[in-house]
Amino acid sequence: MNNFDLLIVGGGPAGLSCALTLGSAESMSFVANKKIGIFLHSTHSDMHKALFNNALGINTGTKGPDILENGIKHLTENYPQIQPIFDAKVLKIEGTDGQFVITSEQGIFYTAKIVVAVTPRVNFDIQGLMDYVEPHSKMPPVKKFIQLRNEDHVVAPGIYVAGVLAGHRSMFAIAAGSGQAVATDILTEWNNGIHTLAHDVLPSEKNKY
Ligand SMILES: Cc1cc2nc3c(=O)[nH]c(=O)nc-3n(C[C@H](O)[C@H](O)[C@H](O)COP(=O)(O)OP(=O)(O)OC[C@H]3O[C@@H](n4cnc5c(N)ncnc54)[C@H](O)[C@@H]3O)c2cc1C
Repeated sequence: MNNFDLLIVGGGPAGLSCALTLGSAESMSFVANKKIGIFLHSTHSDMHKALFNNALGINTGTKGPDILENGIKHLTENYPQIQPIFDAKVLKIEGTDGQFVITSEQGIFYTAKIVVAVTPRVNFDIQGLMDYVEPHSKMPPVKKFIQLRNEDHVVAPGIYVAGVLAGHRSMFAIAAGSGQAVATDILTEWNNGIHTLAHDVLPSEKNKY
């Protein structure tokens, strides 16, 4: 019941964008049989304090909490195959690629792969990942951000990191983009290494694309 192919930890711009991209790839044969979930614990997202006047596609003056609320609605209404796990803080990650065990406030979950996209603050306390924590390399030290050591979003086999926690500067589009980058890396992995995108196309362009 709690067995997944992929679990995304974090429902901010990075985690939600990763989930939306994977959800939109549902018609691909190598995705159709995959069970994907996302932890949507949202107590500490940086989005709770943010106001947006500079993000492409987002109306001037949009509030961060509204983007999160609409993002969760967008995901659950359009891609119900992605299982939301509400109000469950992740406490511990154990295991190896293909066989991870995630301990959360809502119990134990099993998954083959993990995307970690949680808040990059000094109070980061997920057991099993603490050895990868280092000071953030692209944020002012005074802000005390952290990142997880990674190479092109890969922390360890089967563990990806996305968002500001991956070492990106704290900007909405960068965080969301890194979530999409990780989603397409995972699609590529599931597609036996064949580079894979998830595009929807205007009806008028369908036969040309
Ligand atoms: C005051 C302020 C103003 C900003 N203004 C702008 C702006 O004008 N333009 C712009 O582009 N960017 C702005 N930003 C930056 C933008 O909000 C961030 O870059 C973005 O939120 C980062 O997204 P993320 O997904 O990496 O992390 P987050 O948004 O922090 O999301 C991480 C998610 O992980 C969850 N989480 C944390 N710990 C756990 C756990 N243990 N288990 C499960 N879930 C967990 C959190 O609850 C959260 O939902 C602003 C930020 C702040 C603070």
